[in-house]
Amino acid sequence: MSITPGYKDIATPTRTREIIEKYGFSLKKSLGQNFLTDINILHNIIEASELTKDKAAIEIGPGIGALTEQLCRAAGKVMAIEIDQRLLPILEDTLSPYDNVKVVHGDVLKLNVPQLIQENLGGYEHVSLVANLPYYITTPILMGILEARLPLDHIVVMIQKEVADRIAAKPGSKDYGSLSVAAQFYAETEIAMIVPATVFVPKPNVDSAVIKLTIRKKPPVEVADEDLFFRVLRAAFGQRRKTLLNNLVTNFFGKDQKEKALISLEKAGIDPSRRGETLTIEEFGRLANEINCING
Ligand code: SAM
Repeated sequence: MSITPGYKDIATPTRTREIIEKYGFSLKKSLGQNFLTDINILHNIIEASELTKDKAAIEIGPGIGALTEQLCRAAGKVMAIEIDQRLLPILEDTLSPYDNVKVVHGDVLKLNVPQLIQENLGGYEHVSLVANLPYYITTPILMGILEARLPLDHIVVMIQKEVADRIAAKPGSKDYGSLSVAAQFYAETEIAMIVPATVFVPKPNVDSAVIKLTIRKKPPVEVADEDLFFRVLRAAFGQRRKTLLNNLVTNFFGKDQKEKALISLEKAGIDPSRRGETLTIEEFGRLANEINCING
């Protein structure tokens, strides 16, 4: 990995403290501000992201720039979106050695990210999202980005370990739920590493993990109506103690139409006594397609 000579890494406890003190910056818990201070973890994140100089990166929440500077060294261009205005002058200072970064001020959940990609990273065929996400909005950020079908290669993000476990969970495990199926519909998922709380300033109250999502070119199962597919997921996992059959009857057919629910399960090759948490993504897809057919 290329290291720019003459510059100290931001991601050390000493340099992080120096920068915070220099600007009299007070970290905001409400914005999920836990800064990374371990250069080895950052190198591992960069390696997992498979970035090269002909690729671009999007970062959500650059903070004081610890990960951003590593991204600037690894990628051709970096776009970093930061909500906290107080960090803008700090980033201008810490990232001054790099001319391939664009910091955008705003709330990632409100900005038009596809348009920003077009404006700032338009010339790049390969773009990945690499970030240490603000934990209070991990799921809306990830699901928003996946559902928007942004033209990304990989998403490599530090998140709460508990959420990473749910995203990567396999059928039948306790962590398997609608988030697992939804994420796996769009991407191949892999936990790249588990990260201890001690490498952040301040230490978060939860364990963390880096998850790598490799965006699929097409979903693992073809569904006729995506919206219905996601409604079937929500219904199947909504009341976990009920059988799938009862959840389907309640959500899609009505009590007097149990027969229709049974037929759709049978046609999809699924035993009606099974619970939602045992179904594979392919089975959910087949089931949604049968419900679509039978309900017209
Ligand atoms: N990347 C830095 C690092 O690794 O040290 C900081 C990561 S910190 C966990 C999360 C960052 O996300 C903070 O800088 C915070 O201000 C920013 N942030 C929080 N909510 C945001 C939002 N809605 N949109 C964009 N940035 C946000």
